[in-house]
Amino acid sequence: MTIRLYYENAYQTEFDATLVATTTLHGRPAALLDRTGFYPTSGGQPHDTGRLADRQVVDVVAGDDGTIYHLLDAPLTGRAAGELLHGVIDWPRRYDHMQQHSGQHLISQVFYRHFGYETVSVHFGAEESTLDLDVETLSSAQLEEAEGAANDLVYENRPITAYFVDETELDRVPLRRPPAVRGAIRIVEIADFDYSACGGTHCRTTAEIGPIKFLRTERRRGQTRLTFLCGRRAYGHYATTHRLLTEAAALFSTEPAQVPPLIARNLDQVKALQAQVAHLTEALLRHTAADLRARAVPLGPWRLVTHIVSDQEIAAVKTLAGLLQEESSTVALLGCIQEEKASLIVARSADMPLDAGALLRQALRPFGGGGGGRPDFAQGGGVRASELPAVLEAARQAIERQMQA
Ligand SMILES: [Zn+2]
Repeated sequence: MTIRLYYENAYQTEFDATLVATTTLHGRPAALLDRTGFYPTSGGQPHDTGRLADRQVVDVVAGDDGTIYHLLDAPLTGRAAGELLHGVIDWPRRYDHMQQHSGQHLISQVFYRHFGYETVSVHFGAEESTLDLDVETLSSAQLEEAEGAANDLVYENRPITAYFVDETELDRVPLRRPPAVRGAIRIVEIADFDYSACGGTHCRTTAEIGPIKFLRTERRRGQTRLTFLCGRRAYGHYATTHRLLTEAAALFSTEPAQVPPLIARNLDQVKALQAQVAHLTEALLRHTAADLRARAVPLGPWRLVTHIVSDQEIAAVKTLAGLLQEESSTVALLGCIQEEKASLIVARSADMPLDAGALLRQALRPFGGGGGGRPDFAQGGGVRASELPAVLEAARQAIERQMQA
């Protein structure tokens, strides 16, 4: 069993230890020491990283027998068992985990004391941490109350201590949850507030937890998952959020508090403008349809409308084709150009024997395009914008052939 120096002092960032053995674990070279300051992944808290001798510690794993494996980036060449090695913990990473972990104990006890909700599991992620509460939903008032109470406990600067008790003495400790281990049990106490059986690394006082911020909740299988940030993470989140809100306020030339009502007002305006644009577009299309009908070319007993539209939505061109169809004995060939790509719509009146789909395919095929549709309305594309006049001419000739047939 490896002696865990962080049990005694979570603030120890460097230590000397005797190399017991070298081995491999999970395909990586690993070192076993007689004692260590490196925290192994356990109890929801991620492992430490750092340096051991001249190697990087990339993972730390605890075996079932209490042996701690230091997984390294490369083998410890030229080192023999019995040699003294120097270890250095990545302190910013460790301290971040301490802030999240002590904060979690505090938050869990607040929810228990205020509402009777128990924490059933915790997870400390690389960016956010979560705890699952045994309740289906939390109201925003409850969240506000708990977040305020947790931050007040930070200002109270309560000492946080860790000590071992024997399982026979456990009835003297008002534990929030029964311990998962037997024998000597490590208690982490937030003075006169929370007693947890925990092997993690913790801050000296609640003040070091720093600001506590709840981000969101989600329902999970009858429980509520609360995502939270503590310490420097909460500060970083505030700094980013403040910058983004300030940028948004500058875009509106207003104060941050005015951003939500301004966005709501702008959305209403956008909706009103969209309705107005739709109304005007329809009026414009009706006007264009009338103009095109007036300029239609006679083709035997029929009238042919040929027109190229550029930079219009295809939906508007289809509406235009629909309007032209309403007139009797009219066939419309509408080309549409959008970003160097061309499409073709063929539409005809209901009283004509013309097959719009066959006509469209005949016109596009020689240029490598294609499409399809109903006998009275067809749409296709796949040709270059520069080819559109030739496509329209091919369509016109196809109509003449169908008319003669
Ligand atoms: Zn814990």
